Amino acid sequence: MANKNFDECASFLIDNGLFVGRICRLENVLKTIIAKHGYVKNVSAALSESTALAVLLANALKFDGLFTLQLQGNGPVSTIVVDVTSGGTMRACANYDKDRLQKAFTLRKNEGEIEATPHLLGQGTLAFTIDDGKGNYHQGVVELQGKTMEECALRYFKQSEQIETMLRLFVEVPETENGTWKAGGILLQRIPDIGGKKVDMADLPELRNEAEILLNTLTPEELFSENLTLGEILHRLYHANGLNITKDNHYEFKCRCSREKLLKTLRGFSEEDLMSMLDENSKITAKCGFCSEEYEFTMPEIMQQKLN
Ligand SMILES: [Zn+2]
Repeated sequence: MANKNFDECASFLIDNGLFVGRICRLENVLKTIIAKHGYVKNVSAALSESTALAVLLANALKFDGLFTLQLQGNGPVSTIVVDVTSGGTMRACANYDKDRLQKAFTLRKNEGEIEATPHLLGQGTLAFTIDDGKGNYHQGVVELQGKTMEECALRYFKQSEQIETMLRLFVEVPETENGTWKAGGILLQRIPDIGGKKVDMADLPELRNEAEILLNTLTPEELFSENLTLGEILHRLYHANGLNITKDNHYEFKCRCSREKLLKTLRGFSEEDLMSMLDENSKITAKCGFCSEEYEFTMPEIMQQKLN
């Protein structure tokens, strides 16, 4: 049965707005995404973690737009892409080399263990892009340095945005092959120009310290408990800190691919390249990397419009 309290992200304030926070946990949406791909366990874990991070960050969007998290590396996993719309739809995919991944496990003698996401990607970058749908993009990129995704993301906020951030991410690996993955996290930020006008700044170090200590008390059992809502979890953590829950968004899977978009991509290829892509039925099949939907095209269909 679907967990009704999952696939949500709640935004909140504590200490009179001195800190803004978000907490999320995903299950059904991950189940749909992972079922579309059939990735190996380690890749599903990295994808789940990236998805939770993307939701925590996308939930800060204050306008209609698209948030994209992109990891790229020279390791066995070469890319992970998650995109989340302000309307609450999301999709995700990963590219990896199964043989290289297997070789890495054999070499490290750690097959079956879940490795930290940056470890699977090797040297590379973590990029966040915001697209407002009107042709305006804002992108931040940081080198993928850190033992964990948390460390890499914190480095981004420190370097690129200069925003003091606290972050924890969790992934629950299913016990059985067909069990469901859960991922979630909590993020707290101090945004100097916005919050905390009613707070004496001399209290800041102590309040920050307390907020962080409480953040670190959150356990995966609590976050993934089916008996607690996100509001109840936040209440447990921050009821004594003037907790104010400001927003609660729901997330679901939806791919944004279409015949038209793929046609446009195919029209970018030369006629020679397109000819080499034809199958025995004189058709070109293009598969969406995000949802695995297959689209079939004929050469005249592509060329005709190409000429127009
Ligand atoms: Zn698709």
